[in-house]
Amino acid sequence: MATFQDLNLNTPLYNALDDLGFTTPTPIQAEAFNVISSGKDVVGIAQTGTGKTYAYMLPVLKNLKFSTQETPRVLILVPTRELVVQVVDEIEKLTKYINTRILGVYGGTNINTQKRAIAEGIDILVATPGRLYDLALSRVLQLKTIQKLIIDEVDVMLDLGFKHQLINIFDILPQKRQNIMFSATMTQDVDVLINEFFKSPERVSIAISGTPLDNISQQRYNVPNFYTKINLLTHLLNDTETYNKVLIFVAFKRMADRLFEQLDEHYKEELCVIHSNKTQNYRLRSIEQFRNGENRILVATDVMARGLDIDNVSHVINFDTPDFPENYMHRIGRTGRAEREGKALIFSTKKDQDAIDKIEGLMKMTIPVIDLPETINISTELIEEERPQIKEHNNPTKRKDEDAPGPAFHEKSAKNSKENLGGSYKFKIAAKYKKPKTRGDKNYNRRNKRK
Ligand code: AMP
Repeated sequence: MATFQDLNLNTPLYNALDDLGFTTPTPIQAEAFNVISSGKDVVGIAQTGTGKTYAYMLPVLKNLKFSTQETPRVLILVPTRELVVQVVDEIEKLTKYINTRILGVYGGTNINTQKRAIAEGIDILVATPGRLYDLALSRVLQLKTIQKLIIDEVDVMLDLGFKHQLINIFDILPQKRQNIMFSATMTQDVDVLINEFFKSPERVSIAISGTPLDNISQQRYNVPNFYTKINLLTHLLNDTETYNKVLIFVAFKRMADRLFEQLDEHYKEELCVIHSNKTQNYRLRSIEQFRNGENRILVATDVMARGLDIDNVSHVINFDTPDFPENYMHRIGRTGRAEREGKALIFSTKKDQDAIDKIEGLMKMTIPVIDLPETINISTELIEEERPQIKEHNNPTKRKDEDAPGPAFHEKSAKNSKENLGGSYKFKIAAKYKKPKTRGDKNYNRRNKRK
């Protein structure tokens, strides 16, 4: 196994690693070091928790000479504001004995303060794409001296729709630079981006994406509905000793708020929530309070919690079953870190069976199902999304199933498959622009009056 000595670092880095108590490089650090040091473009496939931040920072810092130049030489792009804070924090620990100027910038905060900080001179800039681009456009930030571009969590960047922002940024960066990209999964989108913009980067990876971590025990509860899930969850959370640091995942912010409301009655001071509609300060405070143990329970959406590195999470609870199996992997990877035993639970309903099959297929294992504790009250109350949709019966204008196109049916070509929206299209446009398109359009006016 490689040691940090094998990497030929320098004394200030060794001292910082000593202070951190790190003795050996993680596999991705050992794998990536020489490739990144060589200056070639690199794509690293590694999930959070594998030590990937230092996998790119160690070679970059080893080769970064002291400079008084004001414009930055290293640019690190990450998808969320939380990650900016986390990465800056990690780099600061590693540069404890090096004179390096690091700055994190992200949206939702005062841009002028950031402009002033940039003007003071920086070596390493950590940023979210949107704010970075705004700063570059304002010309306060000069990017022509960037030698190394690091894009962390590329897959999340693309999931969040940052592709065009990234392309705009590539345009204003110097052509001659080293590109280092890290992604938890090698999705098709990531592949397309890499092929379009980079010349055959070297690949380093340590685990096939989707491999479950061995030290996470997983269990599944079959639960009929939302309120029964709440009953089960509160039953579990009442065991404060076992469930001492619990991260609860839901897919959407509306569900996060709904769950928060339900839990707030029971766990007030112990509970916090993060999703994209919360203010930046609120989100950062929530994560910090959960991280340092002030709050025992954090409710989060998938996107918000991606890449977050939080120690000692005792349980990850999947309050809903993610449609994309990769999200399940990212969720459960928040526990069982640093060789500690982690626990992941998933609450699934009957309609989640397909999603469960996909998750189990990806992991090539079955998640054991456990019975609901007998004391759990099975609720019959349903939330809006769970109520049966009213089906139309005996609709004479509807085609019967046997009329459905059979195997010989061919999709119409795109040109021919345009929907004729006729008059209703006019109403749609009119509604969109909130005024009648034609003066005295009676039908339009009548419709709107009815609303
Ligand atoms: P990351 O995958 O970059 O989010 O890192 C996950 C965690 O592992 C962070 O808390 C790092 O500080 C920690 N870490 C990074 N490198 C090492 C190492 N060589 N030995 C032990 N822990 C490490």
